[in-house]
Amino acid sequence: MSDAYTDRFWDALEDDRFLLGDCDDCGDAHFPPAPVCPHCGAEAGWREAAGHGELYSFARQHRTAPGFDAPLTVGLVELPEGPRVLTRIDTDYDALEIGREMAIRAREYEGGFDRGRLADAPMFVAEPR
Ligand SMILES: [Zn+2]
Repeated sequence: MSDAYTDRFWDALEDDRFLLGDCDDCGDAHFPPAPVCPHCGAEAGWREAAGHGELYSFARQHRTAPGFDAPLTVGLVELPEGPRVLTRIDTDYDALEIGREMAIRAREYEGGFDRGRLADAPMFVAEPR
């Protein structure tokens, strides 16, 4: 595996830890993590998120990208640190409601899509907390 900036994120996810970008200058937490703060442009570091948040929005996709089964539920989970994370949601669609507490968890990727250098890395999903 190469030394991409996001390797630290994927390594942490293997331990079921969810990392965000963190800016010392303005205090912004951002996702996806990036070496430069998208809010103020300062050099950014890392922060571990609590790993849960409120469901902000969700939808069911009936046509999906290669490597994902249909139908697929996706949504935005708003973390207490600030960022909203777009993620697959693993639960019964009809049981979801806006504002529900969700946990973000690592899952082994079982789809058939070629993920290149991330072939052995987990993916993340949200599920009711
Ligand atoms: Zn900043």
